[in-house]
Amino acid sequence: MSSTENYDIIVVGAGVVGLATAYYLQKNSPNKTILLVDRLPAAGQGNTAMSAAAVRNMFASSTNQLLTDSSIKFIEHIQEDLHFDLTFEKCGYLWLLSDKQFTDPSVKMWMQRMTASGIKYTAYDKHQLKKIIPSLNVDFTGDEEAQLMNLQEVSYGLFGPDCGVLDPTKLVDFYLQEFTKLSKVKPRFGVEVKSLLLEADPRLDLPGEPLIWQNKRVNGVRTATKELRAETVVLATDAWTNRLLDPIGFDSETKAKKRQLFVIHAAEKKPLLDLLYTRGFSSRASIPFTILPSAGVYFRPQLQEKGFWVGCADKVGRAYDYVQTDSYATAEMAYYENSIYPVLAKYFPVFQGARPANSWGGGYNYSPDAIPFAYKESGFMVVNGTSGSGIMKADAVARIVDALYRGQPEAELFGGKRMPSNALSMKQRKVEIESVII
Ligand SMILES: Cc1cc2nc3c(=O)[nH]c(=O)nc-3n(C[C@H](O)[C@H](O)[C@H](O)COP(=O)(O)OP(=O)(O)OC[C@H]3O[C@@H](n4cnc5c(N)ncnc54)[C@H](O)[C@@H]3O)c2cc1C
Repeated sequence: MSSTENYDIIVVGAGVVGLATAYYLQKNSPNKTILLVDRLPAAGQGNTAMSAAAVRNMFASSTNQLLTDSSIKFIEHIQEDLHFDLTFEKCGYLWLLSDKQFTDPSVKMWMQRMTASGIKYTAYDKHQLKKIIPSLNVDFTGDEEAQLMNLQEVSYGLFGPDCGVLDPTKLVDFYLQEFTKLSKVKPRFGVEVKSLLLEADPRLDLPGEPLIWQNKRVNGVRTATKELRAETVVLATDAWTNRLLDPIGFDSETKAKKRQLFVIHAAEKKPLLDLLYTRGFSSRASIPFTILPSAGVYFRPQLQEKGFWVGCADKVGRAYDYVQTDSYATAEMAYYENSIYPVLAKYFPVFQGARPANSWGGGYNYSPDAIPFAYKESGFMVVNGTSGSGIMKADAVARIVDALYRGQPEAELFGGKRMPSNALSMKQRKVEIESVII
């Protein structure tokens, strides 16, 4: 090690979660020195850049409802009041559901919980849907292929008007700009943390420390060239967290799965443009972010590009092996051709023949209950497990990490609602299991 540096806090990971966290920590502890590091050459280049960047408050658990509703309101505040353009479009979310799904007790409970929390949604039947989206196929009668593919016919739609899409790089720019205005320490990019500095507490300088009978704490991180010491290390390392925690024998209880997006251009294809500019759901002429009833397939409107981003949250069948292979950021074209496309083209025949102009891969960092983790251990804090919805939860979880750091029993979220700061912890977790995962 050529040198050592000392800080109050080191935040590892400059994705949207790490940036928001660094910002609130610095805002509320102005005298602390905070070093933000990321192994990539710039901020927000990890899974944040790979996301569909859609935001919804339509969750079944009250925890996720609160995290997302307050974060979305903050996103609106950034754009409307602070005039920082995030290209946030309130195009809404539309869940297309079969009769069986709509009447399932879990969906009933989801709707009841949204009503109880004041989260707005509208239910449409298939005739209403067909009027608004003429190109939607709601009739699989006699379609043997659809049966073979286990595709459920659309009978209902659940539309959430307060949901939308944005540009994640702009949200990253906002938090980075606000953090750098306040911080005395310049963020460092292209710096990989190789390991955590786990030491005996107190250090006795015995050979082989820390020994089993000694208390232990994380006192910083090691990079290829330096030992960076800090009173607190915050891991906002998303899908890569286990690489740092496994070697010190700490189980993060999160796992990462590969997710992919495929870009379909609609320009000069009138039927696709008509679908993209669907009128009738919101004041904007835009199809909502739409989730199909079967196979986990969804698409997001991309108005700036005049197209769609198509994705899929498949479950059993895809390994929890994200970041184990070098090709994790590359999408698999056969996955689109053989898995996604046949489903998409059944529900929306206007996609027939549509081939991706671009594609990429990323990872979801899942927690067991699909609710994020935010907790404090000896010398380190962890914020991860955003389970595929970290853009829409970042602001709230960052405020929770900051409250935990300052020893506050509660965090105040944007809009004034409060959450116990240990609610997302591992040991005193107070959350409901989330069932509405895409
Ligand atoms: C295809 C896809 C679609 C998605 N769609 C949505 C969506 O519509 N809405 C939504 O809300 N969410 C979505 N997500 C999820 C969202 O992208 C994540 O939840 C969110 O980006 C997590 O933010 P983060 O800051 O925790 O992680 P990241 O952005 O991944 O940031 C973690 C950072 O840590 C850095 N890092 C890791 N290890 C080290 C180390 N050892 N040393 C230094 N730096 C390190 C990485 O380089 C990275 O920049 C999607 C994800 C994918 C992949």
